[in-house]
Amino acid sequence: MKNETLWYPYTKMKNQNYFPKVSFAKGVYLTIENNKKLIDGISSWWSMIHGYNHEELNYALTTQLKNISHVMLGGLTHEPAQQLAEKLKEITPGDLNHVFFSDSGSVGVEVALKIAIQYHINKGNKNKQTIVSLKSGYHGDTFKAMEISGETAYRSIFSLILPEHIAIDVPYKYEDIMECVTKFEKLLESNHNIAALIVEPIMQGAGGFKIYDEVFLNEISKICKKNDILLIFDEVATGFGRTGKLFAAEWCNFTPDIMVLGKGLTAGYGGHAATVVTDNVFNEFYSEDSSKIFMHGPTFMGNPLICAVALKSIEIFIRDNYILKIKNIENLLKNQLLNFSHEEIKEIRVKGAMAVIELKNEINTEKFKNFAIENGIWLKPFGNVIYTMPPYIINDDELIKITNTIKLWFSRGYDEKNI
Ligand SMILES: *Cc1c(COP(=O)(O)O)cnc(C)c1O
Repeated sequence: MKNETLWYPYTKMKNQNYFPKVSFAKGVYLTIENNKKLIDGISSWWSMIHGYNHEELNYALTTQLKNISHVMLGGLTHEPAQQLAEKLKEITPGDLNHVFFSDSGSVGVEVALKIAIQYHINKGNKNKQTIVSLKSGYHGDTFKAMEISGETAYRSIFSLILPEHIAIDVPYKYEDIMECVTKFEKLLESNHNIAALIVEPIMQGAGGFKIYDEVFLNEISKICKKNDILLIFDEVATGFGRTGKLFAAEWCNFTPDIMVLGKGLTAGYGGHAATVVTDNVFNEFYSEDSSKIFMHGPTFMGNPLICAVALKSIEIFIRDNYILKIKNIENLLKNQLLNFSHEEIKEIRVKGAMAVIELKNEINTEKFKNFAIENGIWLKPFGNVIYTMPPYIINDDELIKITNTIKLWFSRGYDEKNI
């Protein structure tokens, strides 16, 4: 069948490559054509933290469905959204106490940026409108989120029409931290219009799967506080355990002003995001003055079905001590991968439930994908990285199957012509 009606993401539509057709999924397994089962090594863009078709999550969804599937939050309210907001207030660090829902990570980021800029306007400072970010960051595909993302393939087509953007260096080596901090301080000497700095804390996702130390964030945070610059943590990828803590913010010794959650928030059951802000930020909007209202309202914000699932997901995460599961995944990934080497490998990184093999050259992603499928694994490398971010319910044998397949690629699948 020709696949031209359905337009796929990040895909060359002419002579499109083979896309396995998933007809069923349970736990860590995807069932594709001919009843073949694949272990999902990337959790559907890192969102299916409990795996697929989870009995308790299914039950939460279907129970909620019997009462109400959707009602707008504009002028009405409902229990699942109120409860999820309370739960997020409880589990996020410090005084991140106020929750604004939206329907995807990108929109959650847009909401954070609008809140940050309006925060300064509401305080009477109309000049602070610049958003600074980290190099190699990824914050989504909508326009402003794309604008502030790193200079990657996601934005290059539009770079000519995007306004000039400031992105600062990230210290991927511990010894580079102070140099990067100093560069940021220097930037502030000449630019007094910075509203906010947005970062993916500790671990950068789609922009290159890079890891850096929390000491950098602790230092940067002090400078932001001193200069009335809001610090936004985009935890769409890192939130809900991926770095080994419930939130990457827990590695740091301060509370960010704004946190964006998505992906794992709904256990992958549907698109949703939460932008959570501190008392200080919220108070600038808490006013009799209607010019200070936050004028934003996605139609499906706080959808009751997805809020009910998110609540159950958080309950299971805490009840079943997922942090311990993630620690186990991290240890196993380290054991299996960190002493592995090959002339083509530049670096191997493991943090929490994530492993990355960075190659010296671009990888032939199609060949790798097909090789992994032959071995019963679903992985989708891109650029020069192979990565895995499995569902947290994965067992040791399944995880070793993933790492073995990656290793096997270098001895059997890979040859000079592949890369
Ligand atoms: C995926 C991602 C986004 C965008 O989320 P969508 O739900 O795809 O819009 C934003 N920020 C980070 C860090 C992400 O990983």
